[in-house]
Amino acid sequence: MARIAARSLRVQSVAMVIGRTIYLYGASREQFLSDIAWMRHEACHIKQYQQYGKIGFLWRYMTEYFRNGYYNNSLEIAARAAEEDLSVLEDIEIG
Ligand SMILES: [Zn+2]
Repeated sequence: MARIAARSLRVQSVAMVIGRTIYLYGASREQFLSDIAWMRHEACHIKQYQQYGKIGFLWRYMTEYFRNGYYNNSLEIAARAAEEDLSVLEDIEIG
């Protein structure tokens, strides 16, 4: 799924969050962990999953995606804002 997303977004690397797991395509764990803004972005999606539940998140995400596309998807707008949020990683533990 992450590979398909990378292709359709025409980017080299993609992280995809399902529940509390981040799946990477085209990037190593080390690359991901060294990019604080990227980590904050995906941490925000994990929090969205916690807020809406797995089905609720996916339903919302797909609805937003079909209505507004990727960049104007409200869940992506929130995640992009979180890239600057110093506190978003505070209660996240990396396993
Ligand atoms: Zn995102």
